[in-house]
Order: sequence, then C-alpha cells, then structure tokens
Amino acid sequence: MIRKYYSRFVCILAVLAIVAGTAAFGQSQRFDFPKVGNYYVLRGDFHMHTINSDGSFTTRDRVEESKELGYDVIAITDHGRTRAYRVAKYLGDQLGLIVIRGHETGMNKGEHYVVLGVDSTYTPIDSHRWARNRGEETIFYQDAMKDVAKHGGIIIWAHPHTGLNECTIWGAEQGIIVGVELKNDVVGEGWNTEKSHGTSWYPSAVDWALKYNWAMLACTDAHGKRKQNPAVTLVFAKERSEQGVLEAIRARRTIAWFDGMLWGRKELLSELMSAMVKAERTPNGKLVLKNLGPVDLDGEVQGATGKVFDLKPYGETVVDPPDKTLTIRWLNVWYGLKENLTRVY
Ligand SMILES: [Zn+2]
Ligand SMILES: [Zn+2]
Repeated sequence: MIRKYYSRFVCILAVLAIVAGTAAFGQSQRFDFPKVGNYYVLRGDFHMHTINSDGSFTTRDRVEESKELGYDVIAITDHGRTRAYRVAKYLGDQLGLIVIRGHETGMNKGEHYVVLGVDSTYTPIDSHRWARNRGEETIFYQDAMKDVAKHGGIIIWAHPHTGLNECTIWGAEQGIIVGVELKNDVVGEGWNTEKSHGTSWYPSAVDWALKYNWAMLACTDAHGKRKQNPAVTLVFAKERSEQGVLEAIRARRTIAWFDGMLWGRKELLSELMSAMVKAERTPNGKLVLKNLGPVDLDGEVQGATGKVFDLKPYGETVVDPPDKTLTIRWLNVWYGLKENLTRVY
C-alpha cells in the first residue's frame, strides 16, 4: 500500500513539474510549423563550430544548445574537420535532432565554402587553401569540388564577402555549389555585409541565388553561444532524415529566416504562408487571421485603410476588409529586394 501511494505521489509531482515547466517557458518554447503540402518544415542551421576548430563549445554543448533553440537539423562545420559528426550524430539521435556531416573549407585567402553530406570516406584536402589555378602548390579548386561531389556532398557558399568570382560560378555550373548564405550571424556588420532592410547581411546574395538557382540560407556560424533569435534556414523536407534534408536543399526548397524576415522564392513563400495563415470570415464580415506558425508576421491591408498590423506567433487578429476581398501585403516576407509577398483572403 505504501508503495502504491508513493508512486501516485511521484506521478503527481511529475505532472506538477511538467505544468510548471510549460508555464515558465510559455509560448516561446513552441517552434513547430504546420505541414506544407507533403513537406515537413524543419528549422536548420548548417554552419557552426566547436572546439574541434576555433569554436568554444564542445560538440555536446553545441548539440544541446541547438535542441534548446528549437532546431530540427544542424551541421557542425569545423574548419577542415568532420570530426564532430560522429559524437554529434550519436547525441542528436537521442534528442531527435538530425545531424548532417559537414565542414568548412574554401579558397586560399578567399571564399569560404560549407560542405555538407559527404560520405564517411571523404577526407578534407587543403582546407581554406584551395588554389585558383592548376599547378599551384595546393589542390586546384575544381578538383576539390569534384571530390566533394564524388563523395555525395554539396557546397554552400558561406558569408559571400568576396563577391562573385570564377570559382563559385564554376561550382554552380557543375551543380556542386547549390546554396548561399544571405545571412551569417557571426560576421555581424563586417565581412563586406551591407546594411539594408534593417540589418547587416548580404542582400546581393538574393539576386545571385535567383540567377544561379541557389538555395537561400541563413546560418549562425556560431563559435560560442548563439544570439537570441538566431538565424534559421527553413527546409521543406519530404521526410525527417538526413537524406530528406539534403534532398530538400538540393531541390532548393529552403527559406532564410533571420532578424524577423523570411526570404525565399515566391512559390515556396506562398505555399508556406497559405499553410501558416488561415483566414475565417465572421458573420459581420470581418476576417479573423490565425497564425499557425512561430513567425511573427507584419501585414498591411491593401486599399483604403492601409492598416498595418502584427500577427503574433500562434496568435490571431481581426481585420476589417475594406472590400469584398482582402489583400494583404506581408511586410516581412520577401521574394526580391523590393518585393513583399502579397496574398488575397
Ligand atoms: Zn567562414
Ligand atoms: Zn564558419
């Protein structure tokens, strides 16, 4: 009998702890997106460091921090080393965090590239020392990129501070470079970032991504603790797995989410917004907009009123349509440097 009461007591304590925990974290701990068609919307960060290169976090700390911040998938990308992968994957499996094998490398005194998804037999060669011309003392970049492809990997152009050069264009034409960082949290205002849309980033990369058909990414490049509201790459994956994520990046199904803005291709943004924002008409002709996702959205009613409103994560708001239909310009959802996504409700 004592045992029975004891276990009931433990159960009650456990429930109280969960309730208290949920209340303490509140809504900020919700990270989930609704499914978009057949795709899971996963929160990714594909560029970060540990003590295996110049980071200050151990692999365990990095994995646990990633999980706490709500990421679904990460790649640890130490300079010239994939060493963190095995431990990260082991820990990630236990936490339900997908881990992709990665490392950072690139041109001699030039472009930095993040390599993702190479197989276990791949060994980084001459990291950050790839030669621009054949016959120089280190590996010629074309050979290095071909080697990545041979081992099943892809390349993301990291913090594109150098501007567009021959080697990046060649990698793109070969289908090996498939993405670019629009935002890198760690370079801050340096590394040839530009100030626009209220933050420091690489706005030119939007046009390059559209021109060269690259996935748009936002990465933290964290060396130590990540900042609050860190950069996120949303990945539209058919399955929640390493392969599913890599397939999605190869198919350019990504949206960069940073500093309160979503940046991506018009079609994908439209699909996301139609799944995430639901509109219901009330009997007196008003419209209730419900946000089913974690993105804080800023809308502007098109037409006579021009009302600007805020639609909080998982929140709702009531809008008065000036007409039979309601057209909203989403002020923080961008598919071009001057183009906001507009939707009719
Ligand atoms: Zn770098
Ligand atoms: Zn880095």
